Amino acid sequence: MIDEYIRPASVEEAVLLLSDEKKVLKPLGGGTSISREREKQFGVVDLQGIGLDKLEQFNHQIKAGAAIKLRAFLGHSAVHPEIQRGLLIDTTENLRNAASLGGWLISSDGRSVFSTVLLALDAAIIWEPGGKSIGMGDWLPLRRIKPPGVLMTEVSWQAQPYLAFEYVSRSPKDRPILVVAASQWRSGRTRIALGGYGDAPIIAMDGPDDSGADVASRDAYYEAEDQWASALYRREVASKLAIRCLKRIKDTKESEV
Ligand SMILES: Cc1cc2nc3c(=O)[nH]c(=O)nc-3n(C[C@H](O)[C@H](O)[C@H](O)COP(=O)(O)OP(=O)(O)OC[C@H]3O[C@@H](n4cnc5c(N)ncnc54)[C@H](O)[C@@H]3O)c2cc1C
Repeated sequence: MIDEYIRPASVEEAVLLLSDEKKVLKPLGGGTSISREREKQFGVVDLQGIGLDKLEQFNHQIKAGAAIKLRAFLGHSAVHPEIQRGLLIDTTENLRNAASLGGWLISSDGRSVFSTVLLALDAAIIWEPGGKSIGMGDWLPLRRIKPPGVLMTEVSWQAQPYLAFEYVSRSPKDRPILVVAASQWRSGRTRIALGGYGDAPIIAMDGPDDSGADVASRDAYYEAEDQWASALYRREVASKLAIRCLKRIKDTKESEV
């Protein structure tokens, strides 16, 4: 339960507060998840006044402040339409208006399309103190065990890769039981991320080209069994969706010639 509210005016002040080991203070993004925590008492450091709400493109790099609201991605020309489509599948308008990027990446589970797509894009996350940059692929498996810092400040990814995702859900309004997202760089580098299962999306493949993407996707979800779908279903469909994503990317490339 929240018993203290502090609203700092800068990142430095927020980091100082969050580093105080004598207090139990947590960052407050949109509050949609943290406000439901009832077990222990803690204070919150509201991030809305510290300037982490920008979304900018520098050359081919997109940089988003961790406290930006999810709604800011919709309709933004620098944000790939597949990222926007993923967000629309994951969230309602109310949630987009309230939840922040950082809060989403920390709280969302393996069934998030948005997180799966950012993982496919090899997004990097900056943490304070120290301005440490860590790839989403390295961070996700450890995010509930050992955060790299006290405050996530920025998430960045490259704008150039081709990007496509495909997903399956039990009904159009249901959360996905399988997501396959593929990114392909101009060099041919191809990265496939899988979601729809477990605590976090995972990387199925990151290679110099797209060969073996179907096999890698099948193998990565070999044991992905839960109450929503069997592992047999997930692994067989994952390989087909990977091929479909790569076909869409190929079509996009050909349409540019
Ligand atoms: C109605 C509803 C539907 C939902 N549907 C889905 C869904 O379909 N899929 C899904 O995956 N999730 C879903 N969620 C969960 C959702 O992911 C979280 O509620 C939301 O993303 C949290 O964002 P927030 O900005 O409100 O975070 P907060 O609630 O403010 O914080 C969440 C956690 O992140 C930490 N945090 C926030 N910002 C930072 C930062 N910058 N640095 C370090 N730590 C930080 C907080 O300390 C806290 O521990 C749903 C939630 C609701 C309420």
